[in-house]
Amino acid sequence: MDVEEFRVRGKEMVDYICTYMTTLRTRRVTPSVEPGYLRAALPAEAPHHPENWDDVMDDVENKIMPGVTHWQHPRFHAYFPSGNGYPSILGDMLSAGIGCIGFSWAASPACTELEIIMLDWMGKAIGLPPAFLALEEGSKGGGVIEGSASECVLVSMLAARANGIKRLKHQFPTVDEGLLLSKLIAYCSKEAHSCVEKAAMICFVKLRILQPDENGSLRGETLKEAMEEDEEAGHVPFFVSITLGTTSCCSFDNLPEIGPVVRKFPSVWLHVDAAYAGSSFLCPEHKHHLAGIEYADSFNTNPNKLMLTSFDCSLLWVNNRYLLTSALVVDPLYLQHCYDHTAIDYRHWGVPLSRRFRSLKLWFMLRSYGISGLQKYVRRHCELAKYFEQLVKKDDRFEVCNQVKLGLVCFRLVGGPDETDEQIDEMNKKLLTNINASGKIHMVPASVRERFVIRFCVVQQHATREDIEIAWDIITEFATELLEGPDKERDLNEERARRHRAALAHKRSFFVRMVSDPKIYNPAINKTPPPAPTSPSSPPPAVPTTPDTPDSELQPPTPKQSSWISWPLAFFFQSVDHDPNDLPLRFRHLDTMVRLKSPGASSRRSSSPCASPERRAPSPSAH
Ligand code: PLP
Repeated sequence: MDVEEFRVRGKEMVDYICTYMTTLRTRRVTPSVEPGYLRAALPAEAPHHPENWDDVMDDVENKIMPGVTHWQHPRFHAYFPSGNGYPSILGDMLSAGIGCIGFSWAASPACTELEIIMLDWMGKAIGLPPAFLALEEGSKGGGVIEGSASECVLVSMLAARANGIKRLKHQFPTVDEGLLLSKLIAYCSKEAHSCVEKAAMICFVKLRILQPDENGSLRGETLKEAMEEDEEAGHVPFFVSITLGTTSCCSFDNLPEIGPVVRKFPSVWLHVDAAYAGSSFLCPEHKHHLAGIEYADSFNTNPNKLMLTSFDCSLLWVNNRYLLTSALVVDPLYLQHCYDHTAIDYRHWGVPLSRRFRSLKLWFMLRSYGISGLQKYVRRHCELAKYFEQLVKKDDRFEVCNQVKLGLVCFRLVGGPDETDEQIDEMNKKLLTNINASGKIHMVPASVRERFVIRFCVVQQHATREDIEIAWDIITEFATELLEGPDKERDLNEERARRHRAALAHKRSFFVRMVSDPKIYNPAINKTPPPAPTSPSSPPPAVPTTPDTPDSELQPPTPKQSSWISWPLAFFFQSVDHDPNDLPLRFRHLDTMVRLKSPGASSRRSSSPCASPERRAPSPSAH
């Protein structure tokens, strides 16, 4: 393609996107395809000779589009919004066009400097303290754009881990770092996103997952008790991640209580994950959620969720950038430049070296909408959720299961007085499965207070009251059919229900299965308790003073029932001694082709724990 053809095709592509956006309503919101559908439609090998652009685009429409889930569809109410404001799409286009890789200031000064400035603009707009802003007089802080909220949590934990080990090494200079690492323990609520657990797995540290209160909010006292208990047992608290706007039910951990608790412990890093809710703090009426932010060491939010900005755009701020970069710095000669002592080099702020010019989309968004335009969008998003909440509350077959603070409403069928919790869960699961299978609207489940609930999120940028009413009509139609229909699913006895589910599992598309099981959306609820200590009677260890502390002394105490510890990589091993097909759900479901060894092989595992997961040849559905 030469520049003249690009000029033409580029305009055609913009036209294609515009037509896609304006005709979205005519498409089914979720695809009706089976895994491997595309493999059957495409050749097994890349073409040897160049192909005609029009033919390629025809295949986009006829082969790829039928497998697309339309996140911008007015009937898409799953997950959280995925921004795609036009100015941000144009920002991405320009970034791709410029094609620079901004890993250091010298690699593309504007790329670095615009990012610093955009993060300061955003930080001020949402109300972060000046300590988080790079250009504030005397500040050691600053912000960066990462690829995802998961990366923001990971790099914060990596920084906290380096800091924690450094502190312990200072106290116990002769103790091996590996042993010091085994003492570190992080904390989050059961409502925290699973990315905190993933970060703990990558960092190879223990994570204690705490029970929030009845509103899904982690309280200071719960954290304090856990940290004190662990410290007494010889663990070293080093990182706490709290959430403002949780994924399951948009609850808020109690930052004003948690902040002072964390500060009582030396060098514990407090991270605040506001991936979804953070953009709402642009509005003065939501800023109160940030109370206590002055205690935090780092904060992240995704404008690609609630600020109409296209993926990827995850913002992370720290109040001490030196603590962050000292955990991540590597400095080969070929990356050094003569300004690297005075300029910010973003290669030290994350995992990848190479980075796109992502600040361009913030630049276009902030200037095109202005803060007032973005506030208007956030307000309408929240107002429509409140409207949906009212509709649910008016129908006494349903109940609302969360405090609706932003754009997410969790609701469910109440069930009859004679029905057990499990039967009511089944009924709601059936309702959601039927709705999703129809392709009329799309929602996902979650677990709230251990019960199956349906999440309804206002997603579409230009959603109206009418869209909310249409969604509610569809939901109530399916509910009526389920509650009053001839087969009365809830009256089935257990055996019939089991057979029915097994048959459905075969019939349903991969997609419907994926969105109907809350364990998949919230793997945190699929947890097993940690292994019991081998010698429960042995006294809890003090922080090690010698490198050869016996293994039995390193065993942690059994945690309280209200919380459990996620052991690094524990899920790899959790079913190894049982049926090899009984994989942890998140793997089994996605069929990543990770297979555990057969029971016969488990004895080999005990001599070599690293040998447990086996990889097989990738399949079309492998991730
Ligand atoms: N944190 C919270 C509170 C979330 O809601 C999500 C995703 O929805 C994440 C983290 C993970 O976000 P990402 O996909 O950007 O890693």
